[in-house]
Amino acid sequence: LRISIVGAGYVGLTSAVCYADRGFNVYLLESDRAKAQQIKVEEPPFYEAGLREMLHEALASGKLEVSSDVKKAVLGSEITFIAVGTPSLSDGSIDLTHVGSAAKDIGKTLKIKGDYHLVVVRSTVTPGTTLNFVKPSLESSSGKRVGVEVGLAMQPEFLKEGSAIQDTFNPSRVVIGEYDSKSGDTLESFCRKLHGENVPPILRMNPTSAEVVKYASNAFLATKVSFINQIANICEKVEGVDVVKVADAMGLDDRIGRKFLNAGPGFGGSCFPKDLKALVAFSRELGYEPKLLEATLRINEEQANHVAELVREELGSVKEKKIAVLGLAFKPDTDDMRESQSIRIINRLMEEGAEVQAYDPAAMKNARELFGEKILYADSATNCLSGADCAVIVTEWDEFKKLNVEDFKRKMRTPIVVDTRRIYNPQEFRSLRYRAVGLKESAYTDEDERKVKERLRSLGYLG
Ligand code: NAD
Repeated sequence: LRISIVGAGYVGLTSAVCYADRGFNVYLLESDRAKAQQIKVEEPPFYEAGLREMLHEALASGKLEVSSDVKKAVLGSEITFIAVGTPSLSDGSIDLTHVGSAAKDIGKTLKIKGDYHLVVVRSTVTPGTTLNFVKPSLESSSGKRVGVEVGLAMQPEFLKEGSAIQDTFNPSRVVIGEYDSKSGDTLESFCRKLHGENVPPILRMNPTSAEVVKYASNAFLATKVSFINQIANICEKVEGVDVVKVADAMGLDDRIGRKFLNAGPGFGGSCFPKDLKALVAFSRELGYEPKLLEATLRINEEQANHVAELVREELGSVKEKKIAVLGLAFKPDTDDMRESQSIRIINRLMEEGAEVQAYDPAAMKNARELFGEKILYADSATNCLSGADCAVIVTEWDEFKKLNVEDFKRKMRTPIVVDTRRIYNPQEFRSLRYRAVGLKESAYTDEDERKVKERLRSLGYLG
């Protein structure tokens, strides 16, 4: 099987190098010429552990070809995956422009292709898009009928940035939304070849159900985050209560689970906020007000203000104060700042007159593009603390976990730490001003904590 992939973003490029690694010949199509050129010279346009090496291997082995020639790619492959972006329009609804032009480009080549070809939508699209938008688009541009000469399926992507390669090789499940059984069989056969001995559960359904699975999964995880953030904000008002202990104890109930019960500055990234907004807009269009999802989004927006509020409470006013922001990417192990809560927190602090000095191990280039001269940039975590009146931990990078109390005391003007990710031990940090999301005052003994963590680890919840 030869594969073509439209869109060389986080999903498309990661899939391409992984498929090439498993021996498939892959054409990767990217419309942004600068990005395509960068990939051709083995320079990944974003940071993802292991990606650079795998890209080198894929190009060196000749298994991966990066191009903008749709015709060559579609004629030279049996399956085309659409992995283009699906951003939000200003009202939160989904922007299908890229999906539409990808489908049309593929269709134009299918017009001259003699053999059966399967088109698979991997982009996250609102329910009904594959059947009501992609299918007519393919049919009108190819002059062929889906279900006869052309196959069509929707396979939602579940990879997580930061572990994208591992997730591509070991997905928790493969969901195949098939237009007809031939399309489903063709895609299932590819997935079985890709995963070899290690085939994940494969669930087959219609395309619209597959589209719902993706939105429902993201909406559930985002809601779990907003839920624990709301509990955290309650905990902060009750003496002696710590949301981490509450979450650890809740998480041992396997109906609840510990994952995604980490209180913090709120969720960000390219998927949760946009997908939730799209689902809310989609639902409203159908005449149903999705109150829980609306609350999830609202709580998330307010959580960034809550972090700024913690800083303000500590400093009285942030005006002309120097705030060290540690962490800009929306999560560790990526440089992705799309919808990162760091942006909201920084903007809020600046609006109130603070001077922001920031550092992130991977996202400095993206931060410079976003903030320009408006903030100061440090070249290390410790230098970021230099002369600061308050430090805010926004992303839980391992590098920040290594900082100790003395680092803060030595470098800062006033050693106040606002730990939104709960990466420090409150007892160790008692000798400086330590504020944390979800904590009024710690009541944990180290021994209690050790036992709980051991149990969580044995259940596979902690790494
Ligand atoms: P991205 O914005 O990083 O990449 C999309 C790429 O497609 C861009 O490089 C763009 O230039 C290219 N493109 C757009 N139209 C094109 C066309 N007609 N021909 C060729 N290239 C074209 O997006 P992403 O983060 O990879 O996400 C892609 C889709 O997958 C989205 O729908 C997203 O919601 C979904 N998704 C993303 C993730 C993630 O973690 N990033 C996870 C699961 C699902």
